[in-house]
Amino acid sequence: MKAIRVHEFGGPEVLRLEEVPDLQAGRGQVVVRVSAAGVNPVDTYIRAGAHAVNPAVPYTPGMDAAGVVESAGEGVTRIAAGDRVYVAGTLSGAYAEQALCDESQVHHLPERVSFAQGAGVAVPYATAYRALFQRARGVAGETVLVHGASGGVGIAAVQIARGAGFTVIGTGGTEKGRQLVAEQGAHHVFDHRAPGYLEQLMALTDGRGVDVILEMLANVNLDRDLNVLAKGGRVVVIGSRGPVEINPRSAMGRDAEILGMSLFNASAREMSSIHAALVAGLEAGMLRPVVGQELPLAEAARAHEAVLEPGAYGKIVLIP
Ligand code: NAP
Repeated sequence: MKAIRVHEFGGPEVLRLEEVPDLQAGRGQVVVRVSAAGVNPVDTYIRAGAHAVNPAVPYTPGMDAAGVVESAGEGVTRIAAGDRVYVAGTLSGAYAEQALCDESQVHHLPERVSFAQGAGVAVPYATAYRALFQRARGVAGETVLVHGASGGVGIAAVQIARGAGFTVIGTGGTEKGRQLVAEQGAHHVFDHRAPGYLEQLMALTDGRGVDVILEMLANVNLDRDLNVLAKGGRVVVIGSRGPVEINPRSAMGRDAEILGMSLFNASAREMSSIHAALVAGLEAGMLRPVVGQELPLAEAARAHEAVLEPGAYGKIVLIP
């Protein structure tokens, strides 16, 4: 089968399409025929050797995929050959024609969700869900600012929060992205590149501020976030690409909480709760991953450039 292989950490050019042996499912494992693989920013950090934990080279990148189960090993009970599934992590890498997974990493994909959409479920939706419920402890009726709502995690957060009864405010950096954020359920949309947008947000909430902020670019926004939080507000740092200086007094006066998060810290029990909620949301049509760009697997390098460019529009997926 064909797979993208990385033999040394580096720029996008280290992503090479190669022929590798077919995969076999061992005990408790499943082989998925990949119809689409999701591209996440974290894939680029790992490829560059810049992530907290990096795999040994050579390796096949990618954590998210969707397709049909080709074979299930001994002891697999929840999943069978022929099932439509999405994959949340793999043992072998997702940028390939086949992916080997532990049974716990494979979840049923409802008929109404395409494979390309299914490739956009795992990291983005699980991150958004964990941030909103497991870290921020958000409850219906609260107001949430999805600060960076036009990309993979942001669109997921907008749909999840809207479906769960929050007042949703989203931001995007382009007109096209903001239009998408509004279509996906945000009650109000702002431009995070426009001067004065956070003052407008404060006016919108009658000076009260928001209960929860899901922050995609903390190194730019964290200090200002603290000034638009309501009393008892929580900001979850989902993404950050550098250091930032904050004024802790802004947090003191509000009893505010700054919460870090990594999806990889979720326990097995938390993960299975997250995916139970996501499968239910996909079945109900409440969660509808948005695929902004489909590229052939051979163009993984181009996908790695695109996922870091401004002007996000849902997900980028690779088609083997
Ligand atoms: P993505 O699809 O590339 O989207 C990036 C988002 O950030 C877009 O909505 C973009 O908006 C927005 N953005 C750009 N400039 C911004 C600014 N000044 N203020 C607020 N938002 C801004 O990436 P993603 O998959 O959604 O991931 C978002 C971030 O979370 C990445 O840094 C990723 O590494 C991180 N992440 C962390 C975890 C975790 O476990 N902690 C899990 C998944 C992702 P425009 O392009 O419209 O400007």
